Amino acid sequence: MGCQLQFLRGLHAFWRKSANRCRLRRRLNAFLQAAFPAAWDKACVRIARGGGRTCIAVVGRCSAFEILWERFQPARQLCLRLQLDPAARRRPCSVRSDVMRSCEIAIVGLGLMGSAALRSLATCGADVLGFDPMHLGEPRGSSHGSCRVYRRFNYESDAYTDLSERAFEGWRELEAVTERVILKPSAVLEAGPKDSKLVAASRAAAARKGPIEGPSSGAEANAAYPAFNLPGDWSVAVQQSGGILLAEEAMRAFRLGLEERIVPASARFTSTPTGILVSTSHGDVMAKQLILAAGPWISKLLPEIGPHLRVTRQAVGWFKPSRPSAVRYGEFPIFILDNGKRGLVYGFPDFEGRGVKAAQHDLGPDAGPDDWSPLPTPEELSVVRTTLEQFVPGAAGPITDRDVCLYTNTLQADVVVDDGNEFIIDRLPGDPRIIVASPCSGHGAKFATAIGSMLADLALDPAASASPAFSIQRFSAFARSAS
Ligand SMILES: Cc1cc2nc3c(=O)[nH]c(=O)nc-3n(C[C@H](O)[C@H](O)[C@H](O)COP(=O)(O)OP(=O)(O)OC[C@H]3O[C@@H](n4cnc5c(N)ncnc54)[C@H](O)[C@@H]3O)c2cc1C
Repeated sequence: MGCQLQFLRGLHAFWRKSANRCRLRRRLNAFLQAAFPAAWDKACVRIARGGGRTCIAVVGRCSAFEILWERFQPARQLCLRLQLDPAARRRPCSVRSDVMRSCEIAIVGLGLMGSAALRSLATCGADVLGFDPMHLGEPRGSSHGSCRVYRRFNYESDAYTDLSERAFEGWRELEAVTERVILKPSAVLEAGPKDSKLVAASRAAAARKGPIEGPSSGAEANAAYPAFNLPGDWSVAVQQSGGILLAEEAMRAFRLGLEERIVPASARFTSTPTGILVSTSHGDVMAKQLILAAGPWISKLLPEIGPHLRVTRQAVGWFKPSRPSAVRYGEFPIFILDNGKRGLVYGFPDFEGRGVKAAQHDLGPDAGPDDWSPLPTPEELSVVRTTLEQFVPGAAGPITDRDVCLYTNTLQADVVVDDGNEFIIDRLPGDPRIIVASPCSGHGAKFATAIGSMLADLALDPAASASPAFSIQRFSAFARSAS
C-alpha cells in the first residue's frame, strides 16, 4: 500500500507540473518503471480529458493491473482507485486473412508521420495497427532516401521553432530507446543577399533563444568554410544546433519491435456507423478511429482534400565534390542559399561518401502521387548546378546520382489566410473519427516525433484539439462541414 500511495502522490505531483500531456506521459512512464521495477515491462499510460475531469489509466502488461486516477473540477477532489484487472493484459495485434479483426486505431500510411504515430500510440499501450504496402528502402514516398535537414530555428515561424525543439527531445529519446543514430549533429548555414528575409527570420528566431555563434557575413563564411565562394556582403546565419536527419533510419527506428502491428498492404477505408472499415488484400479490420498519413496519395483516399493540395516533383542530385576535404561531414555545414528569384538551394556535407546531396526547395512542376520516374534530367538540376558552381565551388563536380521526391503542399487557406505550404493535422469535421495527418509541404520530416505525439493525443484524448496553425478548418470547405 505504501508503494501505491507513493505512486499516486507521484502521479499528482507530475500532473501539476506537466502542462503538456506528452511530457506527462513520458515522465509517468519513467516513474512507473522506477516504482514498479519488477512488474513493469512495457510502460503504458493513457490520459483522457472529458466532462470536466481528467482520467489517467495505467496498464501494466506483466502484472495486469489498472490504476485510475481522476481529478474532478472544480472541487479539485482527488479520487484514486487501484483495480486488479487480468483482462488488461494486452497482446500485439495482427491481421489474419480469415477473420474480421478490430482495433482501436488504424494508421493508413507509414512514412515518417504514420510510423511516428504508430510508435507513439504503441508506447501508450493503444491497440493500433499500421498499413503500408511499401518496404523501407523503396525509392517512393516523401520520406524515402537517406537524409533531411533538421533546422532548430525555423524562418517560417516561431510555432515551427517550438515544434522543432519538441521534436528534438523526441529524436534523442528514440535514439536512446533504439540505440541508433538518427539525428547527426551538424551546423546549418543560411545565406543570402543583405535583404534576404529568410536569413533575417532565421537569425531572429535563433536570437530569441540565445546568442548566435559563427560567421555572419559571406566573407566570414568563406574564411570559415573554404568550399564556399559567397559574395562577401551576403548576410549569413549559422545554427550550430542543427542536424542531418537520417530519414530511412528514423522510419526503421519508429517501427522497431512493432512489426506485428504492421500490415504490409495497401488499404482503403469506409466510414460505417459502428466504426471505420479498413479493407486490404490481407483481410478487413474494423477500427474505432483512423489516422490518414498517406503523404502524396492522401487525395486518392480522401478526395475532398484534393482541391487544397498541390503535389510537386522535386529533383535531387548528388554532386561529386571538386574538393572532397572541404565538404566533409563535421567540417562543412548543411547550407541553404537564398538566391532570390534564382531559387532556394540547399545541400548537405558529404556524410555518406556519396557526394554532396543538393536540391532546389522552390516548388517543381505538378505531379501525381505515382509519378516517381523518370529520374531528373540535367536541365531539371541546372539551377542547383549553377548555384553550386557560383557559390559552393568545392562541391560542384559532376552529378553522380539523382532522385525524385514529391512535396505535398497545402494551397493558401481562406478562412485563416496563410501563404500556403503549411501542415494539416486535425480531425475531419465531417467524421471526427478520421484524423488527417498530412501533408507536410516539403518541411515536415524534422518534426515527425512531435507530429507522432500530436496524432497520438488526438486519437487517445477526445478533448484534445488540433493546433490552430494545423487546423483543417482554416479551409472553408471543411469549416462548413463542421457546422
Ligand atoms: C526532396 C524532399 C526533400 C525534403 N527535405 C526536407 C527537409 O530537409 N527537412 C524536412 O523537415 N522535411 C523535408 N521534406 C519533407 C518531408 O520529407 C515530408 O514532409 C515527410 O517525409 C512526409 O511524410 P509522410 O509520412 O506525410 O508521407 P510519406 O513519406 O509519403 O508516407 C506516406 C505513406 O503512405 C503510404 N500509402 C499511400 N497510400 C496508401 C494506402 N492506400 N494504404 C496504405 N498505405 C498507403 C505510402 O506507401 C507511404 O509510405 C522533404 C521532402 C522531399 C520530397
